Amino acid sequence: MKSALITGGAQGIGKGIVQRLRADGWRVALFDLDKEAVAEAKADDPGLLAAVVDVSDECAVRRGFEQLKDWLGDGGLDLLVSNAGIADPQNGPIENLSLHDWRRMLDSHVTGAFLVVRQGVPLLRKATGSIVLMSSIRALQSEPETEAYAASKGALLAMSHALAVSLGPDIRVNCILPGWIETAAYQKKENRSTPKHTEAEKAQHPVGRIGDPEDIAGLVAFLASDDAGFITGQRFVIDGGMAARLIYTD
Ligand code: NAD
Repeated sequence: MKSALITGGAQGIGKGIVQRLRADGWRVALFDLDKEAVAEAKADDPGLLAAVVDVSDECAVRRGFEQLKDWLGDGGLDLLVSNAGIADPQNGPIENLSLHDWRRMLDSHVTGAFLVVRQGVPLLRKATGSIVLMSSIRALQSEPETEAYAASKGALLAMSHALAVSLGPDIRVNCILPGWIETAAYQKKENRSTPKHTEAEKAQHPVGRIGDPEDIAGLVAFLASDDAGFITGQRFVIDGGMAARLIYTD
């Protein structure tokens, strides 16, 4: 049975990935800093290894990997998805952005990915596994006042091709750049809601809808499969066609 670690796997896109891999028969571990969400994930699926880990904290990541190694036994890790991070891209005017908030954003995405990849590589080598880094369409295009998030996501994109050339041929590394993915139904119970979108919000996407975590999970499942054995160092925009649309004001 194949094994995966998904960071930020207790809610949102990460939860969608966890559910998809479980349905496909994988053993799945998740790290997430939200204690309630981790407890709910474990209650919903006792077969998971679900650990409270802040991926930007070196000691916490080390402790999390000790648990993961015990759980894997002699086996390796077939897939690492570095997905955790602060999902709200807005930072307000750059003149008012504190160094603390700038660092918090970069730490959650970039330092977090570095720490889990560094710990994960020996386990991934054992299984000839693969890595997926969760970037964003915002690595390539921006709305105003999103500098810290855009910088974080650009860093993950660059990190993915650097890792691909360093870690081949044992480990493949790819990067996913989601557009607007609706995660309201994938939050912990307290915050869960049924998403409502206007027709205009849907229609602006060439596919006519907003994305779901399942859309991203399907791509992760493909990138982790043998069918993707010749794919590494690549970026995959998955945004319902938004980035292909040329927008001019009338
Ligand atoms: P979400 O907030 O619904 O879920 C993120 C999960 O990660 C949460 O459970 C949270 O507790 C956890 N997390 C946050 N920081 C963490 C940390 N330091 N250590 C461990 N866990 C942490 O967000 P989401 O929308 O599912 O986003 C998941 C990833 O996808 C993020 O990297 C986000 O930037 C990226 N992304 C999301 C969208 C979107 O439209 N939803 C678009 C592009 C990229």
